[in-house]
Amino acid sequence: MSKVLKFGGTSVGSSANMRMVAEIIKGENAKVTVLSAMSGTTDSLVKISSLAKNKEDITPVVSFLSDKYTTCVRELLTDYQAAALEKCEQVFSGIANAAASYDGPSTERQILAQGELLTSAIFTFYLKEIGYKAKLINIPDFMFVDENGKVDTDKLKNIKREIETGDKDTFFVTQGFICTNAEGKLDNLGRGGSDYSAALIGAAIDSSEVQIWTDIDGMHNNDPRYVENTYPIRKMSFDEAAELAYFGAKILHPATIQPCKEHGIAVRLKNTMNRNAEGTLITNDGDSQKRFHAVAAKDNITVVRICSARMLMAYGFLRQVFEVFENHKTSIDMITTSEVAVSLTIDNDLNIDSIVEDLKPLGKIEVERNSAIICVVGKIGYSQAGLAAHILESIKSIPVKMISYGASARSMAFLVDSEYKKEVLRLLNNNLFNLC
Ligand code: ASP
Repeated sequence: MSKVLKFGGTSVGSSANMRMVAEIIKGENAKVTVLSAMSGTTDSLVKISSLAKNKEDITPVVSFLSDKYTTCVRELLTDYQAAALEKCEQVFSGIANAAASYDGPSTERQILAQGELLTSAIFTFYLKEIGYKAKLINIPDFMFVDENGKVDTDKLKNIKREIETGDKDTFFVTQGFICTNAEGKLDNLGRGGSDYSAALIGAAIDSSEVQIWTDIDGMHNNDPRYVENTYPIRKMSFDEAAELAYFGAKILHPATIQPCKEHGIAVRLKNTMNRNAEGTLITNDGDSQKRFHAVAAKDNITVVRICSARMLMAYGFLRQVFEVFENHKTSIDMITTSEVAVSLTIDNDLNIDSIVEDLKPLGKIEVERNSAIICVVGKIGYSQAGLAAHILESIKSIPVKMISYGASARSMAFLVDSEYKKEVLRLLNNNLFNLC
């Protein structure tokens, strides 16, 4: 059974790292290698398109990027150097031309796609240079999204045929993140979307394992940026990983879980810089045996409160509330209800003004920004007394704005002001992870 390996921006961020990636894909016998753009590229491309939109000078950012890529090519390639430099030249003059005739979001999407296109081309040249059989697949020829951004998984299955035409020992390299949209133009799956690309490709080719290679030793039990002595979790289930990825664990894009869970494809999180580290294995039956397994936090949460006497004894009220959010394509994360009020949270407040307008007929609306959801994952079943109390006791010095418990036996989440986030993560670390 074949493996799909995906490497993030840092993993392909320099010629030295690309060399390591080539060794890894050989060691793992990767069938398809999915690449992000070299680190920092997409941010720079976003900058270029916003400068272009405002008719400002893009030259410094383009030169910065072009230097990064040409340096990498010169360090990495000899035989294929001229061809790769020509490709760089093509891409950067293409970016400059697109920017000069900037024509709204479709130009931006076209510019954003160039990082993955160039990185994958350079890496394929490198594989050929060191004698591997390698073939570059242009993923926009296979990955199509409709007007709602939904991927056409049937069309993506054509990639399997493409792969079967190659020799057994061919390494296929392709781009994460990018796709073709309903207008037939270059588009993307959203920032950080390369993990999702790898999962979709894994499902399309019936792969046995999707590996996500980053620069950290797997998913940690807490956020290493704020808490000391965190450790990687060896095994977890898709449901646990989904909760952690959605609620803030940056290592894995949350959309990755669904295709792999559905097709029973194991996901392994590995560290390119420390490839012997075990990493994290996510499978259907990898549920934690520990009482408290991990915590994660997600910032920039907005709370919407709807206070209404109309809810008393009524039916259909929540449907009306949800419909408003659905109409504005805004997903709801947490929700709590009482007989006179509903509180819910969203992480995308782009349409908040129209949402509030549409909610007004239902009651008095309050909006509060700058909150953080903290999610505790583990064996937090309903049948055992004292677990919720233990979690809340750990953070008793912190004001809690909402609590979500009982939806699954795997997690409990609560909402605090963002300013308390780090303290909550530390308190939970001290109080939860010494129990088994
Ligand atoms: N390069 C894209 C980004 O930075 C996609 C990815 O790396 O997953 O968002």
